[in-house]
Amino acid sequence: MTNELNPDLAALGHSTDETEFYTPLPEGYVKGRTKYVVVLGTVMSGLGKGIFSSSLAKILKDKGLRVAPIKMEGYLNIDSGTLNPFRHGEVFVLDDGMETDMDLGTYERMLDENLSARNFTTSGQIFTRILERERHGQYLGRDVQMIPHVTGEVKRTLRELATESKADIVFVEVGGTVGDYENGYFIEAVRELAYEEGEDSVCIVALTYIMEPQSLGEQKSKAAQLGMRQVMEAGLQPHIVACRCPSPVTDKVRQKISMFSNVPLRRVFSMHDMPSIYLVPEMLREAGMDREVLTLLGLHERVNQRNEDQARRKWQWFVERLLAPKEKTVNIAVTGKYTSVRDAYASIDKALEHCGAHAHCRVNIQWIDTSQLNARNVADALRGCHAVLCPGGFGSRGAEGKIECVRFARENNIPYLGICLGFQMAVVEFARNVCGLTNANTTEFDAHCPHPVIDVLPEQKKIEGLGGNMRLGGKDVILKPGSRISDLYGAAESVRLRFRHRYEVEPKYIDQLERGGLIFSGHAPHQPIMQMLELPESMHPYFMATQAHPCLTSRPLTPDPLFLGLVKAALVRAYPQQVFSTMTGGKPTTTAGSATTKSAAESRPTKAAASVAL
Ligand code: GLN
Repeated sequence: MTNELNPDLAALGHSTDETEFYTPLPEGYVKGRTKYVVVLGTVMSGLGKGIFSSSLAKILKDKGLRVAPIKMEGYLNIDSGTLNPFRHGEVFVLDDGMETDMDLGTYERMLDENLSARNFTTSGQIFTRILERERHGQYLGRDVQMIPHVTGEVKRTLRELATESKADIVFVEVGGTVGDYENGYFIEAVRELAYEEGEDSVCIVALTYIMEPQSLGEQKSKAAQLGMRQVMEAGLQPHIVACRCPSPVTDKVRQKISMFSNVPLRRVFSMHDMPSIYLVPEMLREAGMDREVLTLLGLHERVNQRNEDQARRKWQWFVERLLAPKEKTVNIAVTGKYTSVRDAYASIDKALEHCGAHAHCRVNIQWIDTSQLNARNVADALRGCHAVLCPGGFGSRGAEGKIECVRFARENNIPYLGICLGFQMAVVEFARNVCGLTNANTTEFDAHCPHPVIDVLPEQKKIEGLGGNMRLGGKDVILKPGSRISDLYGAAESVRLRFRHRYEVEPKYIDQLERGGLIFSGHAPHQPIMQMLELPESMHPYFMATQAHPCLTSRPLTPDPLFLGLVKAALVRAYPQQVFSTMTGGKPTTTAGSATTKSAAESRPTKAAASVAL
């Protein structure tokens, strides 16, 4: 493909047997229009590469630049949909239905924007595309090789994102650490990209780790130095080094890293632990990392200072409220089965954190494993809880315990919020204990139950296999006018939320459930798929559930109204003597599922009290 604006890239050739260059350029690609920041990890994983990259992307976005992040995962799965949350953390669903790694959630929350399948790739996707091209004879008789074809496919993916997003900067986060076998070709692709794009186009940021062994009481940089050597052995010269460390990195250590890696001292940054991840953007800004990136990529001219001042003020508002000391605490029981790993419910954790800031209270999450719960011990398990949140899930383990929690919350006026499976459990509980449908269940857990009040979606019946085939992604929910949930969403007619499910309320039971008092206050636009339910105020102070996952669209500045409503209802239960002016969450600023609070007031944070490692 020729590209008049890119004579040198075009000259690198395109998939022929006459050249070793392989630079597939997407239609309309303009060299130099988009720059690249590539974040690589060294020494070890778990350094908070996603938090670091998204914070850096945020402060550049604040400056009025258009940024487009992409996470590149080395595993061979096509997406994260089939990964066990116990091992990999939650599956984060994007608006277009892509099932991704939880880091995409960090990017969406930091950047306050919806991402798409373009912002996430895996080795599985890269190789699938290559094998499809091979079957279509697109390699013109060449043997298809790791270099240049696989690396070429990675470059194509990055340039397609650049072209489609029209970004000023594409942020590339390579999963794992440099030196991992499975990520090697991503790193090589980045090296080729830097070579092809030329000077001032690709900024390599190496994230590393400075150890501080307690027995020595001083910072040690050897592992970091070896990490830098690995980056350089891969043919990449880092432009910026970010040093993760529990405490501020000493000048002496920064000097060692600087000398060892050929990176000027002013570009070796200390990235020490902060009380909250939301402080990281400001820490980077104050250290001047944004300025260095702009200089390295020649982007100073594209900056909009007014935009930055405004964005910074808004963020500051949130962070101050998050960290302000709080007088009140609410205990929220999250009743799930992966309760030993917080990452499995990362978005719920985050959504509650946002609400704590906006509702001026500390939200203390009590993780309750429901697999051992029954009618006799549920009261003990939920003692001291001011609200119950039943999260999404799959499989029958712990299901009866969850149903007991729903019953206990409903019968004892404890605020309840059900998310996806938590919605279905609320329907089962109500059918059994209020409508008298003994042994009602979901066919997911009991295929032959007498009252299948939750059954597989018609469109799911014909599907076989488990990957990427649920009802997935952002969907509009039509809200019932005058319902409590519609009020929470600021009397909106509809709200767009994200879904990931295979089962639904069996339509033939809807009437019977409603006669019992349950109100279905949200449904799909063109199908009788029930997506929201509530109990009227006469029956319960706050009993709401949704087939969607509103936690996925809760953002720091616009917490989800159902979550905010739960936290406020929990406050009423915890401090009944005090009168709360409003129980409603606020009105949505968009139909994307996020909302702003009606009553501004001060605010507070949540459980993020302890020092949070990036
Ligand atoms: N297992 C249920 C379903 O497939 C709920 C899914 C979920 O909670 N994400 O419908």
